[in-house]
Amino acid sequence: MQERSRWKLNPQPTRCDWSHWGDSNSRPPDYESGAIPAKPQWRKLWAEADEHKPHGREASVDEGGAPRRSMGEDGAVRYRDTVLYDEAGKKHTGDVLLHDDGSWAPSNGDEDVSLDVDGSSRLITRSLQNWHTHLAMQLNARDFSDGFPLHRWLNEAIFPTEAKITPEFVRVGAQAAAAELIKTGTTFAADMYFYPAVTGKVLSDAGLRGLIGGPVSDAALPSHDDAASALAELDGMLKQQSPLDKVQYAIATHSVYLCSEETLRRASELAERRNARLHIHVSETRKEVADCHEATGMYPVEYLDSIDFFQPGTVCAHASWMKKNEIRTLARHEVTAVHCPSSNMKLACGGTLSLPAFNEAGVDVRLGTDGAASSGNGLDLLAEARLAALVQRHDHWDPTLMTASDAFTMATKGSKDWAVWDIDDVRMRPVGRSNNRHITNLLFNGASCLDLWVDGEALRFDGTTKTLDERQSWMDLDEAVMSYYDGVE
Ligand SMILES: [Zn+2]
Repeated sequence: MQERSRWKLNPQPTRCDWSHWGDSNSRPPDYESGAIPAKPQWRKLWAEADEHKPHGREASVDEGGAPRRSMGEDGAVRYRDTVLYDEAGKKHTGDVLLHDDGSWAPSNGDEDVSLDVDGSSRLITRSLQNWHTHLAMQLNARDFSDGFPLHRWLNEAIFPTEAKITPEFVRVGAQAAAAELIKTGTTFAADMYFYPAVTGKVLSDAGLRGLIGGPVSDAALPSHDDAASALAELDGMLKQQSPLDKVQYAIATHSVYLCSEETLRRASELAERRNARLHIHVSETRKEVADCHEATGMYPVEYLDSIDFFQPGTVCAHASWMKKNEIRTLARHEVTAVHCPSSNMKLACGGTLSLPAFNEAGVDVRLGTDGAASSGNGLDLLAEARLAALVQRHDHWDPTLMTASDAFTMATKGSKDWAVWDIDDVRMRPVGRSNNRHITNLLFNGASCLDLWVDGEALRFDGTTKTLDERQSWMDLDEAVMSYYDGVE
């Protein structure tokens, strides 16, 4: 990792205790004011040197032979005798129409529709939105060198394989990722990985939405010699895109430890000039925070603010180890923070986004799985939302902090699409005397996604993915890793 890092990193794990933080100016984030209970003294953490791992169809007919189904220009789909929860979490029952512009309305039963569905065993909700991914890292899923200490994981597993990454490997990894997104009810991913145009085409062909960040780093990238050439290519892609495209491109400055001040400033200027989003890992680990402070005298958000990095809509992944003044800075810049609990727990980061402080400051918070190699959940955002509810309650000793409805709202925030879940499933029962336990059951127990609608197109219907060949996607993945993992198990 050292050769990729701008700063010296201690390769040895460092014993962590709160005395390290000394006075109130250097306490761990979120705990300085006393508003949030201090971590228990018995909780001993090990801060591994875990600066983040580098990030790191065309089949219109599936194996089942069913064609892609569309609502048509003027049509709608009617679900009869069903249950629909709108984006405000309000329940509606009866017959409903889903329009191709993403809106819905009650049905009186005699409209001209393109499809009429028995919805009696279906639950309709807004679709899931995954705000931090490295999609092609399906190539490294799921227990790839699991349990390695971070530096061994990086140096013996991830770096040697990613040195061999090609556009074709990215296509295969992204295709398998798209299949998993669709299967699990997700219609949007904010990605950060090599060869963004390849991933963008895969998502677009599958009918998915995306914010695809091209990686920018001062470390050598498999796809570019330096940050300047990566930024130049992104400039060309951003110049050509339309705001109406379902797949938008973004500028993914990896982190403060892999990007120089000049690179961060140039990326921010490009984002402002092209009205594009930035995407960056921020304050994921205690070591990242401590190293930044040692190098600059500032914590990561303070440092980024001092160089005028933030633009409205900047996506900050993790945001785990942050002081309250940093969180207020994120709010002031209208930043989107992404809570990634499974990745934080799997990599034993010892901290995760502190929701009460973010809510108090008014920061827009979304959910992300991170890459499949580090998440432990793959790309299942429903499982991520469950973990978010659990870890927030656990961390803050408050069982009321994040209800199932709160977690589901965060997981679907901003969605214009529809996911339809199978409620003929023991995991979705009982529905309760008031027939109102659907979201709680869905969040804590999970359910199968039957249908998935984006702009009037069924990416999935009746439990079968329509916009890509799911079986072929994992067969290609199995074959690709035979050479991609050469020399690594
Ligand atoms: Zn990440």
